[in-house]
Amino acid sequence: MARYIFVIGGVMSGIGKGVSTASIGNILQSYGFSVTAIKIDPYLNVDAGTMNPIEHGEVFVTEDGLECDQDIGNYERFLGQAMFRHNYMTTGQVYQSVIAKERAMYYGGKCVEVVPHITGEIIDRIELAARKTKSDFVLIEIGGTVGEYQNNIFLEAGRMMKLRAPEKVMFVMVSYLPVPKMIGEMKTKPTQHAVRILNSAGIQPDIILARSDYPIDAPRKQKIAIFCNIGEDDVISAPDIHSIYEIPVNFEKDNLGKQILSKFGLTRRRSNMRDWRTLVRRIKNVKKTVRIAIAGKYFTTGKFMLSDSYISVIESVKHAAWRLGYNPDIHWIDAEEYEKKPAKIRELKKFDGIIVPGGFGSRGVEGKIKAIKLARTKHIPYLGLCYGMQLAVLEFARNVVGLKKAHTTEIDPKTPHPVIATMPEQETHMKQKEYGGSMRLGMYPCALKKETVSFRAYGEKNIFERHRHRYEVNNEYREKLEQAGLVIAGVNPQRNLVEVIELPKHPFFVGTQFHPEFKSMPLCPHPLFRGFLKAAIKRNKKR
Ligand code: GLN
Repeated sequence: MARYIFVIGGVMSGIGKGVSTASIGNILQSYGFSVTAIKIDPYLNVDAGTMNPIEHGEVFVTEDGLECDQDIGNYERFLGQAMFRHNYMTTGQVYQSVIAKERAMYYGGKCVEVVPHITGEIIDRIELAARKTKSDFVLIEIGGTVGEYQNNIFLEAGRMMKLRAPEKVMFVMVSYLPVPKMIGEMKTKPTQHAVRILNSAGIQPDIILARSDYPIDAPRKQKIAIFCNIGEDDVISAPDIHSIYEIPVNFEKDNLGKQILSKFGLTRRRSNMRDWRTLVRRIKNVKKTVRIAIAGKYFTTGKFMLSDSYISVIESVKHAAWRLGYNPDIHWIDAEEYEKKPAKIRELKKFDGIIVPGGFGSRGVEGKIKAIKLARTKHIPYLGLCYGMQLAVLEFARNVVGLKKAHTTEIDPKTPHPVIATMPEQETHMKQKEYGGSMRLGMYPCALKKETVSFRAYGEKNIFERHRHRYEVNNEYREKLEQAGLVIAGVNPQRNLVEVIELPKHPFFVGTQFHPEFKSMPLCPHPLFRGFLKAAIKRNKKR
């Protein structure tokens, strides 16, 4: 039977609850246990596909085609295994299935109530993930922070699971301990309050992860222990550190694994973190730097810059760069700037590589196309991901083939040259306003052409990658594009769709209709990111 660990946020969000959850999983794996993890998003959205990345961060895509929270990506990267639909739950999903069951008389005439029917559905889903994966441990991360009205129902489900099988369920609170400048001391009060709120939901945390700028010291551990009714050894230091991949190693310094296992009566095993520790050491020892520009648009919120929208892209760049002995110095380029100030584009020449990541809609598109043109003509390594591939094809169609008005029908439905166009089934979806979960999603096969940059990078012909898009390279323009020198390096064998494009006689110019960033792992960097970074490093060395 599986054991369940709920991870709950205290004080405030954005302090790394997802990475902490993933790190707990990583530690348990190092003791030889199998682990799966569920992220609960307390939103009414059925999935993350309809959420704006600026508000909610990157939309991650699973192999089985679910659009979900970016934390699922953290789970994959820290656990080194794929996640699926059963690893993600939203309030919307839960209510949708309870209401569908009610309509089907599933509840046999009973009044359907939030408790026990919604809680029951939540518990069923958690247990389903345990059964499907046959894991020793199921981690359940509840999004948001204690005290939020909308995650109460999930706490209630956790409380009920604990009541049913106390020895199989435990609660971890990820809290935040501020060190206000004017006081100069780490304060525990907000954590005390957060625990009180959790107590009022009938839950006592077993372990508190003390997130802060600094490691927590003994006096503060004692304070938390007394006021939060918890053992001192169960307060785990969680300071800011060099890289997120160091977190499991750091937690283990405070014996997190042993504390968790002893609570479940499991004390027998020793941990083996060798590969992970090697990774951490490698990251720490990197001295050289390679400069990468990411030209996108989902960065700014008010006066603040966020990088969460492209988290998997950033992590993939890091994985590959570290493996090659470099630190990536990643710069955010708001592509719209190049539309307003065309001369500014020259700044891109100082970079070793340019990435145009996925995107939707018209904002910044002409700026991105300008950046791609520069990468093509000035021989700067380029990696285009999804929209970044489609726009590279447009740039080529306009400036090499000479179809000046070439466009994607996403932006200009009446273009005389719809070089990027929608698939017929997508047109139906859009006409009927079926926007949720209806893109071309999840894993599809792709056959690579031999003697291409991509084939050499992957080292194999048949690959599988994850997708999220409505538009495609229009096959009617394929011949023209190829005649002008564009290489179609990969196609989907079933539907003959263009999946990878390249340019010959260029240090590295690759665009993919899929999202390789969803498959890169810290212990196993993605081959295309590796190829791209190798080329970028070569350019860097020439300077
Ligand atoms: N907007 C494009 C499409 O829907 C690209 C999507 C993406 O970059 N994920 O096809």
